[in-house]
Amino acid sequence: MIRYKTKEEIEIMIEGGKRHSEILRALKEMIEPGMSTLILEEEALRLIKAHGDKSAFLGYTPAGAHRPFPASLCVSINDEIVHGIPNEAARILNDGDIVSIDLGLIHKGLITDAAITVAVGTIDDESKTLLKITEEALEAGIREAVPGNHIGDIGAAISEVVEPTGFTLAEDLAGHGVGHAVHEDPFVPNFGIRGVEEELLPGMVIAIEPMVNVGKAGIKVAKDGYTIKTRDGSRSAHFEHTVAITEDGHIVLTR
Ligand code: MG
Repeated sequence: MIRYKTKEEIEIMIEGGKRHSEILRALKEMIEPGMSTLILEEEALRLIKAHGDKSAFLGYTPAGAHRPFPASLCVSINDEIVHGIPNEAARILNDGDIVSIDLGLIHKGLITDAAITVAVGTIDDESKTLLKITEEALEAGIREAVPGNHIGDIGAAISEVVEPTGFTLAEDLAGHGVGHAVHEDPFVPNFGIRGVEEELLPGMVIAIEPMVNVGKAGIKVAKDGYTIKTRDGSRSAHFEHTVAITEDGHIVLTR
């Protein structure tokens, strides 16, 4: 069931999204070769708490998981697509890596979800293209997120950006409704047919999140039970925004 948000709830999410984007920007600025992913986790938690907010991921147990997620931030490096655990991996970022940081923020009880993928030092041309295409795919999806369009329009626009490049959209992973919970209806796939699936209506709030692999679309779950990686070991990028559908268009809450 889709939980439409009231104007008052969207006002809260606008403030939450602003805080959210400021935290991601601050984390991005910190990223440099030689840094432990644990530093990113600690700084994320500090910034979240400094404003009286909470992480939506810390302690969250998604459907099918056997234990709660142990961190406030997902940090996924190179062939890791999503849900990498920063404080268990004890990993160091190396020059040439790409790292995705994904944050769920709870502000006054309402959740926003957003992710960026960042270059660590100097990255190769293929990785640069990967980041550019993934971000373009997100923007193409966002442009379709207006009242009267359908969920299928978003996925169609995303796949139309990615498919001609030879990169692939990671299988089985999709965007989602968000707000009262991390994952709400509707399911927002990164592929689709124009004009089909749920109609977008004012009050819907969705996370749009293309995850793009250099190689094949196949995925696998790592031994930690959370980190999702490309099956062929190729690199993957992830960009995500939380978008509220309004009467006359949309607001990108986490811009
Ligand atoms: Mg998400």
